[in-house]
Amino acid sequence: MASPYKIRLYGDPVLRQVAKDVTDIDGKLAKVCDAMLETMYEEPGLGLAATQVGIQKRFFVYDFGEGPGTIINPVIQETRDEWIYEEGCLSVPGLHWDISRPKEIHITGYDLNGQEISIEADELQARLFQHELDHLEGILLIDRLDDETRKEAKITLREMFLDLDGSKAARTKSDASGGGVATNNEAEIRGDKGEPRRLFRSRSGGLSLP
Ligand code: ZN
Repeated sequence: MASPYKIRLYGDPVLRQVAKDVTDIDGKLAKVCDAMLETMYEEPGLGLAATQVGIQKRFFVYDFGEGPGTIINPVIQETRDEWIYEEGCLSVPGLHWDISRPKEIHITGYDLNGQEISIEADELQARLFQHELDHLEGILLIDRLDDETRKEAKITLREMFLDLDGSKAARTKSDASGGGVATNNEAEIRGDKGEPRRLFRSRSGGLSLP
């Protein structure tokens, strides 16, 4: 079955906009979240922000294997420590970079019942929440790279997207699952570091964590 939503890709201006607060938590929003989860599971990914499906509102869905969750109007209250880990993004398919982020966070927001939530997250969970929150701010992974790596990444992305359809932000499922071009570019940008750990997207359908 086709995903209810098409995931917006790098180059789509919607990914660069800052999302607005959710004002109504209702059945309509719950339905949107269900459809987003379906899209996320199909990719598969661990999380999906509203902006990635073209909705300019502050919420995201996620599932670490313990069941689906939604955080509405998320705010990071506190961060602790730093760690570097390889990170990918459904909106930048096939590419992964080492990204430094706080290791532990305290995040608050609301669930789909309108109840306040407060989560102390660390490591992967903390990373995922920060990644999704970045999306709500219009920030993408390449913004988190150092200047030189970002320059290389932009060249790679330009080549990838030109090759896909001659423009931007349009693809089919088969385009996303790694044709020769994406794979070559991935190898190029990552150097020869062996099989990447796919944090938010796995072609094999499973997560492989260290
Ligand atoms: Zn992402």
